[in-house]
Amino acid sequence: MSLEQIRAECLHRGHRRLALLFMPAVLCVLIVLAGAWASAVLLFCTVSIILMLGTLVSSCAWFGPLVKRQPSGSKHPLLTIDDGPHPQHTPAILEILDRHGLKAIFFLIGERADRHPELVREIVRRGHEVGNHTQTHPATRFWALRPRAMWNEIAQCQETLTRIVPQHSPRYFRPPAGHHNPFCVLTARALGLTTLMWTARGFDGTLRNMNQVLSRIRRKLTDDGIVLIHEATPLTVELTEKVAAMLAARAAQS
Ligand SMILES: [Zn+2]
Repeated sequence: MSLEQIRAECLHRGHRRLALLFMPAVLCVLIVLAGAWASAVLLFCTVSIILMLGTLVSSCAWFGPLVKRQPSGSKHPLLTIDDGPHPQHTPAILEILDRHGLKAIFFLIGERADRHPELVREIVRRGHEVGNHTQTHPATRFWALRPRAMWNEIAQCQETLTRIVPQHSPRYFRPPAGHHNPFCVLTARALGLTTLMWTARGFDGTLRNMNQVLSRIRRKLTDDGIVLIHEATPLTVELTEKVAAMLAARAAQS
């Protein structure tokens, strides 16, 4: 199937889901017209809660399959680094990972990759993997993207990264802020991508206290876990050093 055919099929399925989402609203209006206000409110609240939990809870797989941890039997936590590439942070991170003998998946933003293609090539040259983290990273409105905008975000990033490192096209997708509405996983799957979430994060995108961030990660660390940290935060370089040391020490003990 050509990419254009895949796009048409994906949008068709997305718009069918969108139409289904409007049905409870129509039903609510009909119930109100019939005078059963309480039933309409109950239906509205139930559907809203299902949509909210399915979209905003990062581990909730109601709207499509997510990979939430590595296969059982995995011996080492997987390190993933979101929001790069970054002209200062990416080279520093690569140096730290080399020093600790660690590999990672870098979930890159397409338009940042376009600005720094040499960093994307360097990530791959050092033996790491690049993942799709959307073209523009619209974190505050990603939860509300409709099928066409969702396709554009994920497909454009895939095209960008594949153009820069043609032999290392992303296999994994991670939604900004972990939000995945009913069209998100559908689109990623149509593009051949597995949606990869995480088990251990320290909220380094918002917290500024290194000890808090580290202890949150340490608490959730398991052998089959997936660790999430970010580029482009004030903590990035120091946090990467500390997390890499933590993972390397754990690997040395096993
Ligand atoms: Zn992100």
